[in-house]
Amino acid sequence: MHHISFSPPFIDQNVINEVIDTLKSGWITSGPKVKELEAEVIRLTKSKSAICVNSWTSGALMMLKWFGIKEGDEVIIPAYSYCATALCVLHCGATPVMVDISDDLTIDPQRIKEAITPRTKAVIAVDIAGWPCDYNAIKALLKSPKVRSLFVAESEKQIKLGRILLVSDAAHSIGANYMGHSAAICSDITIFSFHAVKNITTAEGGCICLNLPTYFNHEEEYNFLKIFSLNGQNKDAYTKSKGGNWKYDILCKGLKINMPDICAAIGLAQIRQYKRSLLPARKTIALKYCEHLSGFDWFIPPTLKDHSRETSYHIFPLRIKNITEAQRDQIIEEMVSLGIIVNVHFIPMPMLSFFKKSGYNIANYPNSYKQYACEISLPIYPNLTDEDTDYIIDAVINVVQSQLKNTKLQELAVIQHH
Ligand SMILES: *Cc1c(COP(=O)(O)O)cnc(C)c1O
Repeated sequence: MHHISFSPPFIDQNVINEVIDTLKSGWITSGPKVKELEAEVIRLTKSKSAICVNSWTSGALMMLKWFGIKEGDEVIIPAYSYCATALCVLHCGATPVMVDISDDLTIDPQRIKEAITPRTKAVIAVDIAGWPCDYNAIKALLKSPKVRSLFVAESEKQIKLGRILLVSDAAHSIGANYMGHSAAICSDITIFSFHAVKNITTAEGGCICLNLPTYFNHEEEYNFLKIFSLNGQNKDAYTKSKGGNWKYDILCKGLKINMPDICAAIGLAQIRQYKRSLLPARKTIALKYCEHLSGFDWFIPPTLKDHSRETSYHIFPLRIKNITEAQRDQIIEEMVSLGIIVNVHFIPMPMLSFFKKSGYNIANYPNSYKQYACEISLPIYPNLTDEDTDYIIDAVINVVQSQLKNTKLQELAVIQHH
């Protein structure tokens, strides 16, 4: 009996050695490993600065607070994302303004344009599946004189930036490319997730990349955010442990969201082999799926690469033409009975109880619903063998073909009956 899991963490001997090294070092919370991981993120993305935290969610909350986002403000986000994209806004007391997506699953720049008001303080664009958003269009919009003139700056950082802040939810997209460089440097702030299912993991964790305009001092912002992520304390435990350094001060109402070294060690061992082997291994699988499925007229190929962008191959979003949500669910059930664990990315937020109760209605996001209803995320990760992917491809073809055949037979029966 086959059992193919959806997205197990990549744990090899390098990861184990790095964790053991941390355990034996006598220092397990934020310290040298976190610093090394931040340096690796900078090396990979060419960001101006990188700050590790304990999740994407907490990092996003901190950055919205850093920008002074508060009650009465609006933040534009896509309806098609994980709930964290909206919750970080709500925890600042502000309102997530959800908009619909394009056919490539990312936020539709035209819909952003329509949603901008004098209350808009930020846009959070989500690189779904690892595919970068249309950043040139979004940036041109946010920097246009008309949109700038609407912006009401109310905090020190808002006055300094002078326009709507662009944040990337890059939970999926570490390693993605845009116009020949890392996609992470497209936005003012890009946040990666290092949660256990992501391309690089620290069990739980995240990393904030700063690529603000040059009139921001990135070193100062980094130092401030480090303090902000540690209860506002001006000396971290590592510095204090060096002795003669016991006296500290609390400078602001900080959060407690720092990443421990024991977690950073896992991600550090992975990111060192990411570009060379882990990312190419994902790509090979995605290309194989496309190659074997592209002959079928029901297959909607995911966007993986074009003249300006390349995905990080985090999710393989299989979409099947003209099927209903119920048919999709049936296909998933049959895949699971064949021992293949699949997923759906994402249930649009307006379909989830909490957001429904808050007044969001999926009828306002027709493309989000349409994409969700026909989507199945297939397993894609470095340890998936050739045998596994052969088995998955055969299963997809058999299950989908028989589902479509059954539907056709049922339709015929209905016609004959009438
Ligand atoms: C995983 C994920 C998050 C949340 O990441 P955490 O590190 O678990 O907080 C946010 N947005 C998207 C799109 C995600 O997939």
